[in-house]
Amino acid sequence: MKPPRPIRFFIRTFGCQMNESDSERASGLLLGAGGVPANGPEDADLVIVNTCAVREKSEEKLFSYLGRLAHLKKGKHVRIAVVGCVAQLRGWEILEKCPAVDYVFGPDNAAEIASLVERDSALKSVSTSWSEEWRETPPALIRRDSPASGFVTVMEGCDNFCAYCVVPYTRGREKYRPLPSVLDEVRDLARKGYREVQLLGQNVNSYRDPESGKPFAELLREVAAVDGPQWIRFLTSHPKNFRPEIAEAMAGIRKVCRELHLPLQSGSSAVLKKMKRDYTREDYLDIISRLRRLMPGIRLSTDIIVGFPGETDRDFEETLDILRTVRFGSLYSFRYSPRPLTAAAKLNDSVPREVKQRRLAEVQRLQKEIQLEDHRRLVGETMKVLCLGRGRKTPDLFSGRNEGNQVVNFRSAEDPTGRFVEVRITGFGPYSLVGEKAG
Ligand code: SAM
Ligand code: SF4
Repeated sequence: MKPPRPIRFFIRTFGCQMNESDSERASGLLLGAGGVPANGPEDADLVIVNTCAVREKSEEKLFSYLGRLAHLKKGKHVRIAVVGCVAQLRGWEILEKCPAVDYVFGPDNAAEIASLVERDSALKSVSTSWSEEWRETPPALIRRDSPASGFVTVMEGCDNFCAYCVVPYTRGREKYRPLPSVLDEVRDLARKGYREVQLLGQNVNSYRDPESGKPFAELLREVAAVDGPQWIRFLTSHPKNFRPEIAEAMAGIRKVCRELHLPLQSGSSAVLKKMKRDYTREDYLDIISRLRRLMPGIRLSTDIIVGFPGETDRDFEETLDILRTVRFGSLYSFRYSPRPLTAAAKLNDSVPREVKQRRLAEVQRLQKEIQLEDHRRLVGETMKVLCLGRGRKTPDLFSGRNEGNQVVNFRSAEDPTGRFVEVRITGFGPYSLVGEKAG
C-alpha cells in the first residue's frame, strides 16, 4: 500500500566520483517513483548511505556514521538503507552489526532502491546479486548535483585485481555501456546546457563498445562530436591500458581537457610488480613523456600508496624521486590498508604504522611544496574557468575549475554559475587558486 504522503529521502555519499554518480542516479529514480528530497537525515523517512570500501578507514567512517543515525529511529518511523561497495562486501554482517539498518543493496542493485518509495516493508533485506548486462538508467531520471558538469558512466567493475584493491570484489567484473546509450546521455546533457562531460569508470581505458568493439579512443571522438559540451574529462585511467592511441586521440581533440589522472601507486618497479600493476617505473615515465610531447602543459595527477607490504626505504625513495621528476599538479596519497579477499591481505603487513605515517607525511610535504611553487607562477595569469557555484568553504567567493582541473575560487559581481568565465589569478594556496573575474 502506498503511504499517505510522499516519502522524503536523504542520500549521504561516501567515496569516489563513481559513488557520487550512483547517488545522482538513485536520487533520480527515487524522485521518479514519487519520493521527495529531504534537507537532512533528521527530516527524512528514508536515509540512504552510499558507501566506500577502498580502505579500512572508509569502513570505520561508515560505521561511525551509522551509529550516529541510530537515534533517528527513536519514536519515529525512519528506514535506513546501506548501498554501494561496503553493502556488497559485508551484506548481512551490516544488519547484525547495526540493528538500525533495514536494507542493504550492492552497487548493481541500485535500481531496486526506488521500490522503497512504494514498499514500506518492515522486513529487513539484503540484495547483492550481479547482472552480466548493462543496466540502463534513462538520462531524464538522473538528478544531477552540478549545474554545469555532468558525470556519464561508461563502464563498471574492474578486471585488474591489483593486489591491494577490493574494488573487483565489490563492483564485479568489467562491463561496458553500449556506445549509443553513452551518446544519448551526452546529448541529454547538451540539451540541458551542460558545458562539461566527465566520463567515468574504474578503468575507462579498457572500454570497448559491446556491439561494435570500438575502443576508448573512438568513444572520445564520438563524445566530442556531440555539439554543446566544450570540455571532456575522463576518470580513471590505468597506465597498463593507456595505449599510445589514447594519448594521440586526446591531443587531436581540442575538447578533451589537457589534464589526466593516471594513478602511479609506487615509483618502485619491484613494488609495482608485487602490487600486480603490470607496468614498470620506466613504462610510466614513457607515458608521461609521450603525453607531454603531444600536449605540452598537460596537468597530471596521481594516486600513491605508501607502506605496501615489503616497501623498503629505497623503494619509497623511488616514489619521491618520481614525484620530483614528474611534478604532478595534485595527488591523492594513502597509507596501505589491508582489505579482505585481496591478494595482498595474505602478505605480512610488514611496514610499521609509524613508518607508513612518516612516509605519507613526506609525500604530502613534498607535493605541497611542488604545488605551492607551481601555483605561485600562475599569479597574474588569466584563465578560463567553469563556474560550478559558490565555494563550499568560501561562500563569499564563486568556485570553479580550470581546464587542468584545478580549483579556482574567485570574486565576481554577478553570479556566473554554469558558465565559462575568464579569471585573473591574484593569489593561491597549496590546493587551490584565488582570483577575480576579468572583464
Ligand atoms: N580504478 C582506480 C585506479 O586504478 O586508480 C581507482 C581505484 S581506488 C577507488 C582509488 C585509489 O585508492 C587507488 O588508486 C589507490 O591509490 C587507493 N587504494 C585502493 N586500495 C587501497 C588500499 N588497500 N590501501 C590504500 N589505498 C588503496
Ligand atoms: Fe582497484 Fe586496480 Fe581496479 Fe583500480 S585498477 S579499481 S586499483 S583493482
